[in-house]
Amino acid sequence: MTLPVDLRSDTVTRPTPAMRAAMAGAQVGDDRFGDDPTVGRLEEQAAEVVGKRAAVYLPTGTLCNQIAVHAFTRPGRLVLCESGAHVRAMEAGSAAALSGVAFLPVDGERGLLTGAQVSDALRPGGDDPPAVDLVAIENTHQMGGGTPWPVDAVREVGAACREAGLPLYLDGARLFNACAATGAAPADYAAHADALMFCLSKGLGAPIGSVLAGDPEFIAQARRLKVLFGAGWRQAGIMAAAGLVALREGPARLAEDHENARALAAGIAEALPGSVDPAGVRTNIVFADVSGTGQDPRWWAGRLAAEGVLVTLLGGRVRMLTHRDVDRAGIDTAIAAWRRVARAAPAGGGRPLD
Ligand SMILES: *Cc1c(COP(=O)(O)O)cnc(C)c1O
Repeated sequence: MTLPVDLRSDTVTRPTPAMRAAMAGAQVGDDRFGDDPTVGRLEEQAAEVVGKRAAVYLPTGTLCNQIAVHAFTRPGRLVLCESGAHVRAMEAGSAAALSGVAFLPVDGERGLLTGAQVSDALRPGGDDPPAVDLVAIENTHQMGGGTPWPVDAVREVGAACREAGLPLYLDGARLFNACAATGAAPADYAAHADALMFCLSKGLGAPIGSVLAGDPEFIAQARRLKVLFGAGWRQAGIMAAAGLVALREGPARLAEDHENARALAAGIAEALPGSVDPAGVRTNIVFADVSGTGQDPRWWAGRLAAEGVLVTLLGGRVRMLTHRDVDRAGIDTAIAAWRRVARAAPAGGGRPLD
């Protein structure tokens, strides 16, 4: 039986042989006591890569975000973010439950905000300025279609935050994808944020783990919140060993994922004209809008799955991500499946070509 082409997420990758070897031989200790040497090495290297003075290794990107929100805010206050931000829309309401905050959403262009938008939202005029404690941005922006931020735009938002006396947090779950697309270094982005996170478990290909980085005082607080939120794990060096391989070997191959995403977008645009804007695909995320076909997105997902191509639905669109475990042949398989399903889509609505 052939394996499905799994485009549901870039988190579905299996560890490489090098990762498994590193895990098997990893030196470990009890990370709750701070003496796992492999976790220590990962935290040091991760901090260095993003140009921050300290970092903490955590199980998920969501936990990084929630710890940052908790550290930078007080209950009853607001976090300013783009409307489609993961931290607002895709973390199960954690920020309300864990930190008692709400969000001040601002609509961006493909997920990106300008400094002026941030300044205007913080000072809309009138007597009661919004009670914002933190500004959060996302690079690449997932709902925006994997949009990478230009470094200058992050600098601008950082300046708006400093002017307002607010910290800037960077959700860089796919920061290395942004770097592969723009040519910037992770530290170029991080320099404008007070703290940031990136996922080892996405495009970089580790089985588990994310890193939260910032200054030593913030990271000391984050270590306390890690325990408060129940993530005081123990011999985490087993996982960190794979994370070190991901950090070393992951970034260089992301361009290939981006090329595959562009090929996928072009193929789907041909199979179903108008569903995808290939020019907007800059990294490893492809959204297809199938609303013009008169068929429910769930119908599309089901038919594609029957063809051996797994996708997810997000915001009424079909979402696909490329990653290490899908090669060009897998992309071709996916495109062929889209063509067959498009042909089978019953007439009505904006009918697909041919
Ligand atoms: C995946 C993701 C997260 C959360 O990471 P998990 O490890 O899945 O919890 C946060 N922000 C963005 C933008 C993401 O894509």
